[in-house]
Amino acid sequence: MPLVKGKVKMYNCGPTVYSFAHIGNCSSYLFADLLRRWLEYSGYRVTQIKNITDVGHLVSDADEGEDKLMKAARLEKKDPFEIARFYEKAYIEDEHRLRIEDPAERPRATEHLKEMAAHVQDLLDKGFAYEISDGIYFDVQKFPSYGKLSGNTLEQLQAGARIEVNPEKHHPADFALWKKAEPNHLMQWDFFGFRGFPGWHIECSAMSSKYLGESFDIHTGGVDNIFPHHECEIAQSEARTGKQWVNYWLHKGYLQVEGEKMSKSKGNFYTLRDLIEKGYKPLAFRYLVLASHYRSPLDFSFTKMDASQKVLERFNDFVHRLEICQGKGSKQAYVEVLKKALAEFEAAMNDDLNTPVALAAVFELMKEGNKLLENTPSKAGAVLLLDFMHKFDQVFAILGGAEEVLSPEFKAQVEALILKRTEAREQKDWAAADQVRDELKALGVELKDSAEGVTWKKVA
Ligand SMILES: [Zn+2]
Repeated sequence: MPLVKGKVKMYNCGPTVYSFAHIGNCSSYLFADLLRRWLEYSGYRVTQIKNITDVGHLVSDADEGEDKLMKAARLEKKDPFEIARFYEKAYIEDEHRLRIEDPAERPRATEHLKEMAAHVQDLLDKGFAYEISDGIYFDVQKFPSYGKLSGNTLEQLQAGARIEVNPEKHHPADFALWKKAEPNHLMQWDFFGFRGFPGWHIECSAMSSKYLGESFDIHTGGVDNIFPHHECEIAQSEARTGKQWVNYWLHKGYLQVEGEKMSKSKGNFYTLRDLIEKGYKPLAFRYLVLASHYRSPLDFSFTKMDASQKVLERFNDFVHRLEICQGKGSKQAYVEVLKKALAEFEAAMNDDLNTPVALAAVFELMKEGNKLLENTPSKAGAVLLLDFMHKFDQVFAILGGAEEVLSPEFKAQVEALILKRTEAREQKDWAAADQVRDELKALGVELKDSAEGVTWKKVA
């Protein structure tokens, strides 16, 4: 049940913008998008916040090592802010290619330093935090329910701690709220009487509270975020307010590549851009992710990508058949097929987003629908099934969409050629017009002339 009737407030841990998002990251954002779309389908008004981490995420989750942004800046010989803005833009482009809807806000960490510092100050004032020589830390022993999300109790963490790198910490699980910066650190600000930068975990606590309040409904992330990231977020947030912070946690299972962990060293590391370069449609990846249950590990392979592209074609072919059906037959049998599919689809989605079962209902509808179109074509019946396909697509968002992979440059090139052809036709230079048409054909573009003008689509 939501905290406020009819409304859902949701926070998704967003990207650290130091490189292109890999397909594992993308799968987590696709899951959050599915959840949001399902809630909206179900009549809720959803306020979705997804942060941009542009400072403070260190190479090791255990508060050590270099800042990921600084490392990328060093390797690419650029300013860290330049790196952050570049990859943020690329990430939003990737989201749009995957038809992930824009959240209400994408707060950037570097633009919320005051909120984060205020949060840390509160923790200092309430005795949950302490300062040592390299920064301000959260005192986990002051927060007895530490471990409630991940099951990592303080005793276990103490026993499992490797050689403590920082002997000033009160407990090995204490984590950095604010780090003191080395003079050469390019991202640093004045707070608490020293130059420093925020820890990664505090970003999500401070920004989610700013936009969603002290308590909200849903928080999502990948399973790899459960510990330490989300455990630390809970500790900081609840220590500050004394209230339960989040009602429901949902985590996206790991993405593996052909049964193995994805890693650069194994050569099985892919970004969405890699898939596009190999000729795959982003929507095929969207389908691949959504077709398996979000909590199960997702096994990625190119064989599955090929299969996904074929499934998308089947969906689109079916929709096309429904659109052109002009039959005069009775719609009654269609009504039955629709009722069954809709009930099964909605029940499955309400069962913890059981997408494999929901999709099975859609496949069944397509199978029965195709038979009906063959045997008793009915325009009125086809309209009903088409309506279902559109409802289904409000949630899955996979129909149509060959245009998604096209670059703005390609689109501009096509538009320019179409203009050239229109001009040639106005001058009745048919030979020139035909020549342009051939050029467009060579680019895989098909034209359609109608009363409203010329439209085009990429067919090959
Ligand atoms: Zn987070």
